[in-house]
Amino acid sequence: MSNTTFEQIGKVLREHQHFAILGHVRPDGDALGSQLALALSLEQLGKDVRVWNEDGMLEKYSFLPRAELLTKPSATPAPVDVAIALDTAIQNRLGTALAAVGSATIWINIDHHLSNPGYGDLVIVDVSAPATGEIIFNLIKSQGLPFNHDIAENLYAAISTDTGSFQYPKTNARTFAIAEELVRAGGLDVGKISQQLYENYPRRRLEVLRELLRTMRFTADDRVASFSLSLKTAADLGVFPEDNEGLIDHLRAVRGVIVAVFFEELAEGKVRVSMRSKDETVDVCAICQKLGGGGHTLAAGARIRGGLAEVEEKVLEEVLEALKRGS
Ligand code: 5GP
Ligand code: MN
Repeated sequence: MSNTTFEQIGKVLREHQHFAILGHVRPDGDALGSQLALALSLEQLGKDVRVWNEDGMLEKYSFLPRAELLTKPSATPAPVDVAIALDTAIQNRLGTALAAVGSATIWINIDHHLSNPGYGDLVIVDVSAPATGEIIFNLIKSQGLPFNHDIAENLYAAISTDTGSFQYPKTNARTFAIAEELVRAGGLDVGKISQQLYENYPRRRLEVLRELLRTMRFTADDRVASFSLSLKTAADLGVFPEDNEGLIDHLRAVRGVIVAVFFEELAEGKVRVSMRSKDETVDVCAICQKLGGGGHTLAAGARIRGGLAEVEEKVLEEVLEALKRGS
């Protein structure tokens, strides 16, 4: 889908001064790490860079180098020349960050989601990349943009998290080659970063998991596993949105399960649905697109209007249909 070269983007980065680097709502390590890495490289070029996310920096990722650069967007639109959306499949998933750059003259869209329609003036959507961080690495390297330890650590965190610690199917030799360069040239301490990423969760996360497991259901001859989080349980436990990241992997990890689904009741009368597949012929991106969302073939999501039980039934029915068509 890319009709833009790294050279064209490199030229725009060098020729303009005021940038806003944006990522999707409910950000993950790939969005935050990619945003910070590109921002730090532009900062080294002497550029004025704002790094915005609707949710601001998450506590969980606040160890990332120069994490303080990433903030919630300003309430009034700021004059920027170039707005860069990273890891964001559709523009409205930028949330409040979108309105904050109303005046940008050039929009750049760099992403790896299958469902990205290619919005913006300069577009690189590489669905073969396991993480947006990998595309940012390629951009920085191919254009000779500044690179240092802090940039390397942010990119390593982006790639490590979006590949499920170098496990998901899009992880390939190139991913390891990039990781090797990040570790070597960036002088990274892998053990320390991994501990911060994977062994530093609040106790609350496990308490959420305990409640989720109580709601666990297996359907479609145990090929579909799901669990759900009600607003009440979330409130009782004082859940932070990021506490849930990755918990769905427990469902996918069960032998025989092809599709895992996580339902999270939201305050605005909607349910956030998170879906994972273990089989390329069961495309959860297609299921989620049908429900108004998007994502990747094996990891996708949507926000659906309705109550928890009602959305669960509707979504599980769609999954069952997809299973019948697929495997
Ligand atoms: P997660 O389940 O981790 O929230 O998201 C999995 C993937 O699906 C991510 O790549 C994310 O960008 C995408 N995704 C999640 N929720 C939505 C949604 O509501 N709309 C769209 N378009 N994509 C989503
Ligand atoms: Mn990503």
